[in-house]
Parts: sequence; C-alpha cells; structure tokens
Amino acid sequence: MLDSSGAILLGAMRGGVVGESVSDPAVAGGQQQPDAPTTRQCVSCGRAINWNSNVCPYCGHDYRMAQPGQAAPQKERSILPVIGGVLIIIAGLAALGMGVAFMALDAQDIEDWVDPAELDMSLSDLDDILFTCGAIVIVFGVIAVLGGVFAIVRKHFALAVVGGIFSILGLGFAVGAVVGLIGLILVAVGRRSFDG
Ligand SMILES: [Zn+2]
Repeated sequence: MLDSSGAILLGAMRGGVVGESVSDPAVAGGQQQPDAPTTRQCVSCGRAINWNSNVCPYCGHDYRMAQPGQAAPQKERSILPVIGGVLIIIAGLAALGMGVAFMALDAQDIEDWVDPAELDMSLSDLDDILFTCGAIVIVFGVIAVLGGVFAIVRKHFALAVVGGIFSILGLGFAVGAVVGLIGLILVAVGRRSFDG
C-alpha cells in the first residue's frame, strides 16, 4: 500500500537509514555523514543489514518499493466519483432552477392548487413561504454543485457526500432528487478514490 510504504520512507529518511545506494544523487546530496556507516537497521525487522542492500536478507523487506520516483503501486482512481459528481451537479442545478421558479412564483398563480384560506393563511403569507422555500432550495442547490465539484476532483469525500445529500434535499423538480441519490451512491462506492 502507498500509505504504509510512504510512512516507512518517511521514517527511514528521518532516521538517516535511507535504503538507496550511495551513488543515488538524491541521497548523496547531504543526507550522509562524512564517514557513512556500512550497516543500517532494517526498518521492518530491526536487524543490521548492509547499507547498500535493496532487500533485507532476513525479512525480505524491499526498500526499492519505498523509493520516490520508482514505480510505487498507484492508488486506484475510480471514475465513479466523477460520474457521481456530474450527477450531483445536475441535481444541484435542477434544485437551483426550481428555487428560482419558486421565488418567481406568485401566490395567485398557484391559488388553483393551494388555497391559502384552507391553510389558514393570507395570500401574502403564501407568497412569503414560496419565497423562503425558493431561497432554501437555491442554497441547497449551491451546496450540491460545490459538493459535486469536490466529487469530480476526488477531494474532500465528506464535502462531496454533503453535496450529494443536499442535491437530494433540493428535490430539483423531483427528478433531481433521484439523480442526486444515484450520484451520492456512486460517490460513496468510489470512496477509496478520494484523496481526503
Ligand atoms: Zn528486515
């Protein structure tokens, strides 16, 4: 794993027991003492091994794996969070559109469907509610779009999840909620591809 080998490398560099050969310019440039030791401690098993050994003869620990610039095992980068992020952004934009439509809507326009009198409120109350709901949905949409961007660049997993959740809450003409849910699932499945 990249993490463990990275940690080993870091520890090795701090301890002055880096496993590269002396001819390696990256190491020869100042890391070594004037009278370089001929042996070092294996970071894995602790035994004394030849300074130039690439592989510990006792435990088989391979120091070449921990060297920078060499083919360290690449972290798998799944495309799923990118697709999920795009879906979350689409859902977020749908929520934004719905929010704008809510805010622009006049209470009189929907009187046929929602009778304010039945809800024990005035027409202007209904207008206020429409405006407030629209504003909330717009905020949800903005959070969703930002989370979708984080998912696409595969950074800040938690924020991408928050964006996915808000893309669902934003409803986005109902379709947005479904699209957002699919996006959130893809992001969750691709969690390992995130940097943080
Ligand atoms: Zn060893």
